[in-house]
Amino acid sequence: MPLSQKPNWLTLDHQHVWHPYSAIDSGLPVFPVESASGVRIKLSDGRELIDGMSSWWSVIHGYNNPVINQAINDQLGKMAHVMFGGLTHEPAVRLVEQLVKLSPEPLQTVFLADSGSVSVEVALKMAMQYWHSKGQPKKQRFITLRNGYHGDTFHAMSVCDPVTGMHSLFAGVLPQQHFVPAPVSKFGEACQPEDIAQMETALSKLADETAAVIMEPIVQGTGGMRFYSADYLKAVRELCDRYNVLLILDEIATGFGRTGKLFACEHAGISPDIMCLGKTLTGGYMTLAATLTTEEVSRSISSGNPGLFMHGPTFMGNPLACAAASASIDLLISTPWQARIEQLQQLLDNGLAPCRDMSHVAEVRCLGAIGVVEMKEPVDMRTIPQQFVDAGVWVRPFGKLIYLMPPFIIDKQDLNTLTGAVVKVIANLAD
Ligand SMILES: *Cc1c(COP(=O)(O)O)cnc(C)c1O
Repeated sequence: MPLSQKPNWLTLDHQHVWHPYSAIDSGLPVFPVESASGVRIKLSDGRELIDGMSSWWSVIHGYNNPVINQAINDQLGKMAHVMFGGLTHEPAVRLVEQLVKLSPEPLQTVFLADSGSVSVEVALKMAMQYWHSKGQPKKQRFITLRNGYHGDTFHAMSVCDPVTGMHSLFAGVLPQQHFVPAPVSKFGEACQPEDIAQMETALSKLADETAAVIMEPIVQGTGGMRFYSADYLKAVRELCDRYNVLLILDEIATGFGRTGKLFACEHAGISPDIMCLGKTLTGGYMTLAATLTTEEVSRSISSGNPGLFMHGPTFMGNPLACAAASASIDLLISTPWQARIEQLQQLLDNGLAPCRDMSHVAEVRCLGAIGVVEMKEPVDMRTIPQQFVDAGVWVRPFGKLIYLMPPFIIDKQDLNTLTGAVVKVIANLAD
């Protein structure tokens, strides 16, 4: 981009602004955005990029969507916010009604949280309070998988992969959880007995002190973009029941259609005791998350000691966010989203296929509207973002992973531009 067209405030950004997982003045590029509409992000210099990321899985209906805009505007005219303690409002109740209706049957109550990480904190606290009210206060720890990701607050961090989550930095204060190797059995395949055996060993040893198993269903996202066997998830559900431990499923990345099912746990035909939703919940418009649980858990907590659930954020149930979420869910449900995701999977599969033959590519895998090219070596984040921008697309790799997770509304031509750019940039990396 010509220097003259860089906005002045970009210097202030380098000097003063933290970006996600970044350093101040790192020298790594950040691209100034002017606006975004549909599947296009417009940079300050006028260039338009086709979005391959859905702003971290979330913007499924595209940017500046007229239906969601209208829902927020309508709500704005009534109230932007009101406290949720002692007061209630229709946007929150309507959203909760939709979530209860769409989610697996046993999930009947909903805690509206401010972000994905907070909804995970809420889930972990619910599990602990459940066992406390059942007279088993020693059940306080969690079993989880390696390669997992559940958020950035402290307890959520404690159940993230200990290596990529850099637990060593926070040793001493981070709660100690038990990690089971991530399943090697792939999606679409049967589950190998060793995978289940490792989970069973952990549960048989630790059930007395374990409140819940927490994991991402089917897709381990930020921890490696791995797709694992639905049979494994089914087996874990059975083991949790057998060993009297709750199952928390973190559907923050997978919820609302991304994997081809409305919720990824449907691939295994099971339901969790507690489920976290976020990211896509508002169509990527605002921060909002939800923790759903069963009557058994919510009634036990409510009738135990102290007889209430210990959480209540200031912006709980924000009406604008709830209105956006309701509109986003209505939009999704009223469209043939399943057929659309199937088509996206086909297009991703075909479009990324040339990468399969490249010697520096380890694996290409697609599931639903997720296409992943895993490289043999980590990519260079000093140069690769610029190459994608020059190709007219927005793709942000991490580590060895170059992946696409486009908005569901993307058309065939734009998707082909995205996959074409990925193939071209990866081919160039070989030189
Ligand atoms: C993004 C993510 C979170 C954290 O959500 P935030 O809104 O970033 O706090 C938790 N779990 C999973 C699976 C995620 O993908």
